[in-house]
Amino acid sequence: MSVFLNGKFLRADEAHVGVMTHGLSYGTGCFEGIRAYWNADQEELYVFRLREHFERMERSCRIMNIRFPMTTDEAVETTLELIRRNNLRENCYIRPFAYKADEIIGVRLHDLEDHFTMYALPMGDYIATTGLRCGVSSWRRVDDNMIPARAKISGAYVNSAFAKTEAQQNGFDEAIMLTAEGHVSEGSAENIFLYINGELVTPPPSENILLGITRDSVMELARRELGLTVRERVIDRTELYCADEIFLTGTGAQIAPVISVDHRPVGKGEIGPVAGEVQQLYAAITRGKRAEYAPWLSPVYGKGIAAQVSGKAKTAQHNGYANSHANGHAAQNGAGTSKRERTPAKSGR
Ligand code: PMP
Repeated sequence: MSVFLNGKFLRADEAHVGVMTHGLSYGTGCFEGIRAYWNADQEELYVFRLREHFERMERSCRIMNIRFPMTTDEAVETTLELIRRNNLRENCYIRPFAYKADEIIGVRLHDLEDHFTMYALPMGDYIATTGLRCGVSSWRRVDDNMIPARAKISGAYVNSAFAKTEAQQNGFDEAIMLTAEGHVSEGSAENIFLYINGELVTPPPSENILLGITRDSVMELARRELGLTVRERVIDRTELYCADEIFLTGTGAQIAPVISVDHRPVGKGEIGPVAGEVQQLYAAITRGKRAEYAPWLSPVYGKGIAAQVSGKAKTAQHNGYANSHANGHAAQNGAGTSKRERTPAKSGR
C-alpha cells in the first residue's frame, strides 16, 4: 500500500508518526473523508466532489491555524495519483489528514510544524442503509465557541465517539445529537434531514453542524430532481417523533434512512419514498450513471470515459421526480423546469 506523507509517496510501513506527536496527544489536526465509487461497466472509479472536500479542508485548516501545503488543484491531482498507485478498482474511502506534528509537550496552535498525510482504502457501507434505529444522545454537540463543528477537527470526534458509543451500548444503531440549547444538530458523523409537512428540513449551519458535502448534494437533488421545498431551519427534538421520514447523510453513511427515534417509529417505521428516491439518485450519480452530474465526479483512470460522460451531459435530460411522480411537491415549491435544468454548480476536478 502506498500512502502520501509530506510531499512524498511512501510504502505504508515506511510512513511513521512519533508517539509524542502533538496531533496525537491533543487532537490538533483536521481531516476529510472522501469516497470513490467503482463503475464496473465503464471500468472507471469516480471520486465524488473531490474539490469540494479539499475546499472544506482548507477552511478547517484556517480555523486550526494549520498551513495546507498545496493548492486545491494539486490536492486533487495528488489524490488521483494516490489511488492510481494503489490500483484501487472498487469502492473506496480517502482520508487526508493535516496535523500539528511537533513532538513536544505544550497545548497550543501557534508556532508548530504542520504535516499532511493521505491514504486510500477499499470501503463498503459505514452504517446500515436499510433502516437505522436512532437514539437522542445525552451528549450535546460541541458549540462553535468550544470546538467549531464546521471544521472537521480530529479532537472534536471525541464528542461523536461519546455519542456513538452511548447509542450503541443502549441498543440503538446511531445517535442524534442536540445542541446545548436542545435543538436537533446532527448524527455522530452524519447530517440529518426530516421530511415533515411536505417539506424537507435540515438544521442550518448555526446549529453546530459540519457543513456536509452530501447534505449540500441532497439539498440540490431534492430541489432539482424531486421538486421538493428544502428548508434550513431550527428543529425541535420532538419534531423527530412527528416526522414522516428521517434520513442521515454523509460520505461514509451515504443516504441512511432512520426508521425509529427513541423507540418511536418514524412514519410507518420503514424506508419512506423520499429517502428511497434520494438513495437511488445518489447511488446512480456517484457511480457516473447520470451524465449531467459529471461535474461532481473526478474520474481516476481517464480512458476517455470522462469525455464520454461530459459529452452525454450536453444532451441529457433530467428525468425529474417532479415530472414523473411528485407534481404535488413541485407545485408547492413553485419549482419549475428551469430550476431542474440547471447543472450542478461546481466542478468535480
Ligand atoms: N457531520 C459530521 C460530524 C461528520 O463527521 C460528517 C462526515 N464527514 C458529516 C456530518 C457529513 O459530511 P459529508 O457529507 O461532507 O461527509
